[in-house]
Amino acid sequence: MRRGNLFVISGPSGAGKGTLVARLLQEVPDAWVSVSATTRAPRAGEADGVQYFFKTEDEFADEVARDGLLEWARYAGNCYGTPRASVEAHMAAGEQVILEIDVQGAFQVRDKMPEARLVFIEPPSLEVLEERLRGRGTETDEVIARRMAAAEVELSQKMKYDIRLVNDDLDDAARALVAYVNEQAERPRG
Ligand code: 5GP
Repeated sequence: MRRGNLFVISGPSGAGKGTLVARLLQEVPDAWVSVSATTRAPRAGEADGVQYFFKTEDEFADEVARDGLLEWARYAGNCYGTPRASVEAHMAAGEQVILEIDVQGAFQVRDKMPEARLVFIEPPSLEVLEERLRGRGTETDEVIARRMAAAEVELSQKMKYDIRLVNDDLDDAARALVAYVNEQAERPRG
């Protein structure tokens, strides 16, 4: 069976990556999104094994020590990482594997797997990003400030990605993302 492709999707928290990835999963039948491990506390409505595998600092460190993560990074005070085995299994099964991870993780993946395609989701502006983060109603001012600082660092890296999509209109951005994934999936890889 032909090995599946690997897509990395990054962009500031609040840029709409999660919503766009959900649309991608609806429209590309063989797409599969990796569930990351994190030391962050679950938000209301999040369940272990669904949005994330929620870990203690010690459990996370054990995963790193046994080389169970394809990449990992610290983001806004918490650790996040991609379990390696499930990514390998889904690629071997010929699926389009999607990683929704931060910029530090994205470049680690590119180093290890140069065939990965890196997609950056941009908010229309930093002002819109802050409004969206506040609109979630789940974050404290301190968390929002940390995420806005992280956003500026992430935006400074966007030119290193293979493609940038501005999430101004959700339908347009979703269409562009689906088109990119389908186009890359059909292209033979060396
Ligand atoms: P959140 O706490 O809002 O769910 O995620 C914060 C940031 O961590 C987002 O930019 C998200 O893409 C990133 N992230 C989630 N999972 C991973 C992962 O496995 N590895 C890395 N490097 N970043 C991740």
